Amino acid sequence: MARVVVVGGGISGLALAFRLEQLAGSLQVTVLEKRPRLGGTIGTEVQAGFRFEIGPNGFLDNQLSTWNLCGDLGLSDRLIPASEIARRHRFLYLRGQLRKLPTGLFSLLTSRTLSWRSKWALLTERFRKPRRQGGDESVDAFARRRTSDEIAETLADAFVTGIHAADPALLSVRAAFPRLAELEAEYGSVTGGLVKAARKRRQQARARGEPVRRGLRTWSFREGLGLLIDTLRARLRGPVLTGVGVRRLEPGGEDAAWLVRGEGQECWPADAVVLACPGHEQSAILADLDSQLAATVAEIPYNRVAVVVLGY
Ligand SMILES: Cc1cc2nc3c(=O)[nH]c(=O)nc-3n(C[C@H](O)[C@H](O)[C@H](O)COP(=O)(O)OP(=O)(O)OC[C@H]3O[C@@H](n4cnc5c(N)ncnc54)[C@H](O)[C@@H]3O)c2cc1C
Repeated sequence: MARVVVVGGGISGLALAFRLEQLAGSLQVTVLEKRPRLGGTIGTEVQAGFRFEIGPNGFLDNQLSTWNLCGDLGLSDRLIPASEIARRHRFLYLRGQLRKLPTGLFSLLTSRTLSWRSKWALLTERFRKPRRQGGDESVDAFARRRTSDEIAETLADAFVTGIHAADPALLSVRAAFPRLAELEAEYGSVTGGLVKAARKRRQQARARGEPVRRGLRTWSFREGLGLLIDTLRARLRGPVLTGVGVRRLEPGGEDAAWLVRGEGQECWPADAVVLACPGHEQSAILADLDSQLAATVAEIPYNRVAVVVLGY
């Protein structure tokens, strides 16, 4: 029986282990997680009668992988969309005040979040010449080129921080927001493209006799995203070990291609190993095996993020 060791019990490691067991029932899949609990950045807690998330609070339905995973775990009928009210009332802490984010044309025009120069830049974005050639660019450069410096520094920065917790000047627009780059390439502008793409979607849905969907929605469970982690854990057949920090990966001998070494004397022989932990952890695990690869992986920048939850 081939053995796979997955290092990291966050959503990536657990979902991969589940899919491997599902697709190749003969595999023995072992998940090793450093912390005492599974889930990585995902975690739902209840305190003083409030249920809150310590990390992500939902997932968007633009990528079907999480949606399908929920279906395969039998959780489809427990999914609930984020409240429309919450979606329409988002605020940005700017210039010492909470400022409401515009959600449409009227609120954009009356909003005090942006200067008139930036409002004009946004309204006329569809008339800016598209970039027809050249490679990838950062989210920050894209926002400056398509709109204004102010929009790049406030709105784009807030969205990037909110979604990826990353520096927009370092993040590739094609990797992080491929839709934006596609809209510019296909329709010549982002705002014009959004309108045309929505019109096309409506026409196609009507032609198929399907209900017209309004924009993207964020989904979670009444029990919180922790339900996804608990269900994955319950469905995995192979061992899932917590409190096991992997320290090193070594080439194996005759019996196994790899030896996965834990903190103490523990060792797991494996025919394949998946590192589903952060880049800096992967780098430490790979250091003795391939110093060049370890150095490359170590270059992936990570940010520190603090989540503050208010219950009232
Ligand atoms: C505050 C915040 C909010 C977010 N909000 C959203 C959102 O609303 N929607 C959304 O889609 N995404 C959101 N994200 C992103 C999303 O949470 C992550 O993309 C996703 O959870 C990453 O999962 P992962 O399994 O790849 O990594 P992680 O969750 O980081 O899991 C990696 C696991 O590896 C373990 N590990 C590390 N080193 C070792 C080792 N040496 N040996 C064994 N195990 C090890 C860690 O303990 C951890 O459990 C948010 C992220 C943050 C931080």
